Amino acid sequence: MPRPIVAQVFPRSLAHNLQRVRQQVGSRPQGPRVWAVIKANAYGHGIEAVLPGLHSADGLAMLDLDEAVRCREAGWGGPILMLEGFFEPADVSYFERYHLTAVLHHEDQFRMLREASGRHPIDAFLKLNSGMNRLGFAPGRYRVAFERAQQYQACSLLGNVGHMTHFANGDDAEHVAHVMALFERATEGMPGPRSTCNSAGTLGSPATAAQTDWLRPGICLYGATPFDHGPSADELDLRPAMRLRSRVIGEQVLQPGAAVGYGGTFVADRPMRAGIVACGYADGYPRHAPNGTPVAVQGRRSRLLGRVSMDMLAVDLTDHPEAGVGSPVTLWGGDGVSVDDVAQAAGTIGYELLTHLARRVPVKVVDTLPPVAGAEVEA
Ligand SMILES: *Cc1c(COP(=O)(O)O)cnc(C)c1O
Repeated sequence: MPRPIVAQVFPRSLAHNLQRVRQQVGSRPQGPRVWAVIKANAYGHGIEAVLPGLHSADGLAMLDLDEAVRCREAGWGGPILMLEGFFEPADVSYFERYHLTAVLHHEDQFRMLREASGRHPIDAFLKLNSGMNRLGFAPGRYRVAFERAQQYQACSLLGNVGHMTHFANGDDAEHVAHVMALFERATEGMPGPRSTCNSAGTLGSPATAAQTDWLRPGICLYGATPFDHGPSADELDLRPAMRLRSRVIGEQVLQPGAAVGYGGTFVADRPMRAGIVACGYADGYPRHAPNGTPVAVQGRRSRLLGRVSMDMLAVDLTDHPEAGVGSPVTLWGGDGVSVDDVAQAAGTIGYELLTHLARRVPVKVVDTLPPVAGAEVEA
């Protein structure tokens, strides 16, 4: 028997969340289209596991070539946007062969295109650095880059060329408005579609999002909030696409004064019962989750006791008399415990927890909606 840990993935949650994005921006006939961002193995969910739920996306965005190839092999025929473009001239032939759209963010990529001298023009989005100072052409160099792109179009090295930028503070509506004004000035009069708005921009500035041609939501599709200090996933009507589940595999009766786990960081102050769960930091559960981090046992909330070990963690069963060895445990993604709850307790963000799901955890696609709190679904 395998260890009882499993990551259940719900395609219907993905479809629901994608629908939420579309509702958010209204449905004017021509737009916005949605690049569903599936980088980092679909934020840890597994590319093949999420594709059925995202089949109505207009395009997929990612950055690893092998992930793009996996999408094509899984039957995805729509556009694919490669968020960091190509890294060396040899990559260009893959862009041709698999019909990938490149983000062009640096002069050097023009050289790579020339050196590769491919036979089919490559579609691209030019990227503006609008103040995040990560990737992209500075506003003052953008026009020159675009003129260069037009020359490359003229000699069939490039096909369609669009424009994109990324928000450093997508959750700040004022910042978004400022960046949009900058983006509009920098790209004024240039033909081609515009792409802006990650999840925070899409959900936090819907009027801005509605004006763009291509949105790029990621985290919200997986049912986690993009906001540090904003509405929760529940409040945004997002549904978790992953539920991390395991079971109690051991049980300990604690007398007052008994400690739990490495370092003895939890000490019982009364008679207690601890359940030992088959889930540890080598599964991707955050080692820094402290005492008290929420967890659900048999559909009801409980809390972590002591330090997370590599393969196990301890939970409080004192108020769960019905629970014992074999009881189902939800680490996140249901039963009143969201991935954002756990992330907040551990001092990080849902993105990190989801993308850190370990390879040893089997992913199981479950074609039903995640159950309501308390309901039991077999792993
Ligand atoms: C990751 C990424 C996104 C998606 O961001 P979320 O916060 O997950 O919605 C959008 N655009 C770019 C360029 C990205 O790198």
